[in-house]
Amino acid sequence: MLNYKSVNIITVVASLVLLFTSYFYKWSLWPLIIVLAIIWFLVTTAGSFFVKWNYHLKSLHSNKIIKENRIAITFDDGPHPEFTPKVLELLKKYNAKATFFCVGKHIEAYPNVFKEIIKHGHTVGNHTYTHANNFGFFKTKKVIDELQKTNAVVKSIEGLTMQLYRPAFGVTNPRIKKAIKLVGLQSIGWNIRSLDTTSRTPKMIFNRITKKLSKGDVILLHDTSLKTITVLERLLLFLQKQNMESVTIDSLFNIKAYA
Ligand SMILES: [Zn+2]
Repeated sequence: MLNYKSVNIITVVASLVLLFTSYFYKWSLWPLIIVLAIIWFLVTTAGSFFVKWNYHLKSLHSNKIIKENRIAITFDDGPHPEFTPKVLELLKKYNAKATFFCVGKHIEAYPNVFKEIIKHGHTVGNHTYTHANNFGFFKTKKVIDELQKTNAVVKSIEGLTMQLYRPAFGVTNPRIKKAIKLVGLQSIGWNIRSLDTTSRTPKMIFNRITKKLSKGDVILLHDTSLKTITVLERLLLFLQKQNMESVTIDSLFNIKAYA
């Protein structure tokens, strides 16, 4: 599979080949070098946005070797004072467990909601401190600060050192790779993106999730809207009928969520 390192090596080798051939055959090098640079840029930009490619770093997206009929539901961007309690209520009603990738500033704003997540037996992970739109352009030090700050907030509230990280906007790059390694986090992706933050109807989102749902899958949702609550209830009913269990990310991959 193509990754940042292999694409860089291929680009350098291709540039050298072009350099030598242009020298021997006396043709202009620049048009092809520009084409090569454009290809490199497009591949690297796409690789930075599609966490599933494992282009910059390896994330866990699904566990297809799991024997049990289990999947993992994950919620990003909370805790939310209105919707997270509703999500917790539903999960309890259907005896399901989930993972919440929380934003540090929201944990600080709603510590009691955050505490409830853990009290209900769910797992929590790091989802940056500010979830800034330009997070992908942050320098390494600023990324490290964001991740450490969120971990420090959770440590002070619950005494837990989080080890799981969900990339904000699914964006990864060499700076984020360096930062999560330094902070000691494991990146967690997904293989079913619900698109619940778009204008799609609950029915469309539910169909999108359940269309090919099978054991070992990781579903991405957001505990930030009423629409997601509607989808969640239908999804939990569907899982019950399919005899499928929703577990936490650490349970699905048999890894540790906290140090
Ligand atoms: Zn997010």
